[in-house]
Amino acid sequence: MSGKTETIALIAATANGERNAARLARALPGAEVYEGRARDALARAWGECGGIVFFLATGAAVRLIAPLLEDKRTDPGVVCVDDAARFAVALAGGHEGGANDLAERVAETLGAMPVVTTASDATRFPALDSFGSDLGFRIEEGSEVAAVAAALVSGEKVGLLSERRYPVGPLPENVMSDYASGAPAIVVSDRIEDFPRPAVVYRPPSLVVGVGCSRGASEAEIISLVRDSLADAGLAEKSVTALASVDVKRDEAGLLAAAERLGVPVRFFSSEELSGFDAPNPSEVVADAVGTPSVAEAVAMACGSELVVEKRKSKNATCAVGRLPVRGRLYLVSLGPGDDAMIPSAARDALARSESVVGLGQYVDRIRRLLRPGTRTTELPLGKEVERAEVALKEARSGGSVALVSSGDVGVYAMASPALELAGDDVDVTVVPGITAAQSAAALLGSPLGHDHCSVSLSDLLTPWEIVRSRIEAAADGGFVVSFYNPRSKGRDWQLGEAKEILLGSRPPETPVGVVRDAYRPTQEVRITDLGSLCPEDVDMLTVVVVGNSQTVVRAGRMVTPRGYST
Ligand code: SAH
Repeated sequence: MSGKTETIALIAATANGERNAARLARALPGAEVYEGRARDALARAWGECGGIVFFLATGAAVRLIAPLLEDKRTDPGVVCVDDAARFAVALAGGHEGGANDLAERVAETLGAMPVVTTASDATRFPALDSFGSDLGFRIEEGSEVAAVAAALVSGEKVGLLSERRYPVGPLPENVMSDYASGAPAIVVSDRIEDFPRPAVVYRPPSLVVGVGCSRGASEAEIISLVRDSLADAGLAEKSVTALASVDVKRDEAGLLAAAERLGVPVRFFSSEELSGFDAPNPSEVVADAVGTPSVAEAVAMACGSELVVEKRKSKNATCAVGRLPVRGRLYLVSLGPGDDAMIPSAARDALARSESVVGLGQYVDRIRRLLRPGTRTTELPLGKEVERAEVALKEARSGGSVALVSSGDVGVYAMASPALELAGDDVDVTVVPGITAAQSAAALLGSPLGHDHCSVSLSDLLTPWEIVRSRIEAAADGGFVVSFYNPRSKGRDWQLGEAKEILLGSRPPETPVGVVRDAYRPTQEVRITDLGSLCPEDVDMLTVVVVGNSQTVVRAGRMVTPRGYST
């Protein structure tokens, strides 16, 4: 958004437009109808609003804003909605003005389609202004964003210069990771150097500065010690992500003020924690004063960094600089049962941010269209679950961003568990939840899971049958509605029959049973039968079997487990 207010002016000229404007005003925070003739309303809105939504033809909107447009960095974002509210067009100020975002939000509220035409969005590569912003990258002053962006969108070769691999997501084809001299560059570095030009220089949040000081050390002294240490080592201040110190300095005014001036938090460690680190320049005086022989170096090490500047001193303060390891990203992504409409939008976002996608071939195929150009895929067959987890973790550990995908929910009989059993604290993990097979089956059957329920996998490949059987018995005893996963395969054909017998021990043969195969896929089959008539031969591995409890009924062809209201 521009530097104006968060207000979004809604300007309409027709009855339909006014109705849609009123709907938006109710639903969108900050949105306000500007009454009167469109030209007058616009004149009032232009100087005071961060965004403007017209309910007009694009031609009319273009003519109205043309005389007012000045600079894309300060003009409001302008969105134009047609009279039937079919489209929300980001007309001007797509990135800096926030019109692309605004078009998305307007479209969502009105049930319209967002129309975004900025070139970087066509390749779905983030605008250079926001590249790496989710990783904490900050653009260095003097960066030539416009020149590099122009090269990028016109398909010219652009070089990526990065000392270390960061989980930045897939790069467009014309971004070369081996830099050819002379090309415009995207630089990710915490070093101060003469980079090629034109370049956009991103400062990753890679440095921590450990600070020790005596009581009363001034803000100015600490700041200049930190700045001099960084400058002498050729390190960028914008890459400093935190100061750190020993916890007896929690209320040290100069230190807190210095951190505030640098715009970073201070992390504190106790002297016990610090005494475990083998700092290169310990001091007995410090040990006597705070109970640990090193503060500046030890706190930098305690943050997990590697020392790049050893202890430096001024009269009342010490500092040391450490570089943090890069943390790769592992997205554990749920794809839902099969229908695109049930792929969570958080899953789409995670896929678009992943430079590598790992999964079973059929699932990778399902989402291939959703991947950004340049995304690598690794397909490993059934039975290779641990290998899939290992491949994904290897990518993440080397600083990449990788998605490991499963159907349904990734945490339910799926890849999240093997991946997280193996993952250490060295990678960032995001789990994207999804709609499970049991939930999908339930939706197609009616509401069989309306009361207490459980799931049991009938596969005895990884769990001994005695355990599976005892759980079915417990479910039977507890009166739970049961969803059976992995009910039957070619080599495992008797388990469902035995499960049926166990449940028949405590439920009448009339108990409703739903059999759902390939839920939300083109080959979907949905049947309701009863426990007595359930025929295991009709069931295969692509099926979920939902057995009702003693209250479950079939109403109007739908399976319903009552909650207990008197209806
Ligand atoms: N993570 C998945 C479960 C994978 S286990 C989830 O949350 O749904 C594999 C089993 O799930 C299959 O044997 C079958 O029982 C069930 N399953 C998966 N997708 C299904 C679908 N679309 N329709 C019916 N059952 C399905």
